[in-house]
Amino acid sequence: MIELRTPAEIEKLRAAGVFVGEVLTELAEQAAVGVNLLKLDRIAHDMIRTRGAESCYIDYHPSFGASPFGKVLCTSVNDAVLHGLPHDYRLADGDMVSLDFAASVDGWVSDSAITVIVGTPRPQDAQLIDTTTRALTAAINAAQPGGRIGDISAAIAAVALADGYSINTEFGGHGVGRTMHGDPHVPNNGRAGRGVHLDPGLVIAIEPWFLETTNKIVTDRDGWTLRSADGSRGAHMEHTIAITADGPLVLSARA
Ligand code: MG
Repeated sequence: MIELRTPAEIEKLRAAGVFVGEVLTELAEQAAVGVNLLKLDRIAHDMIRTRGAESCYIDYHPSFGASPFGKVLCTSVNDAVLHGLPHDYRLADGDMVSLDFAASVDGWVSDSAITVIVGTPRPQDAQLIDTTTRALTAAINAAQPGGRIGDISAAIAAVALADGYSINTEFGGHGVGRTMHGDPHVPNNGRAGRGVHLDPGLVIAIEPWFLETTNKIVTDRDGWTLRSADGSRGAHMEHTIAITADGPLVLSARA
């Protein structure tokens, strides 16, 4: 069921988004060669406690997960692209890591992700991040009142395909509210003018993610981490936004 939010509720969702943005800004600064993924998770956990927020991930146990997630942050390194379970690994020079974080503040959720390169970037990784970032920007610009979900999906796909990447539609964006995952689904490919209406008050996470040379994924032995089927690297960018009468409002914007 799709629930539309009042302006007062959107302000609360924005407060959650500000916090999520602060955490990702801090994590992006801390991510460096030699830093352990478990340390990044600990930093996020400490910030949750200090803020009096709640993790959306730690007890998360959907049908596709092997067990409750147990961490507050997804860290997906190199050929991992989504749902990366933080483990005892120190980031190495040139690693690409996507940081996906969702938390609830005063009962309202925000969900956002960024991908960063630590140390010396490989040109093909920088290109993949650039394309994914532009896909997210295009998708947000397409999220106009009076439009349809398909406008967002088509905008994402157009950027990816123009740059020669293929698209996986198994995982995409979603409604956000009091819980992390709600209706509607926001696919990363689709037809403009089709799908759910973008009415003011609709709050969704938009999350393009692409792999360098495939659109196929496999699940790691940890039961969570999704990796490319061919070992190529992946990038993932996500914001939670609200559709307003004046246009899209990015609730998880980073300072
Ligand atoms: Mg997310």
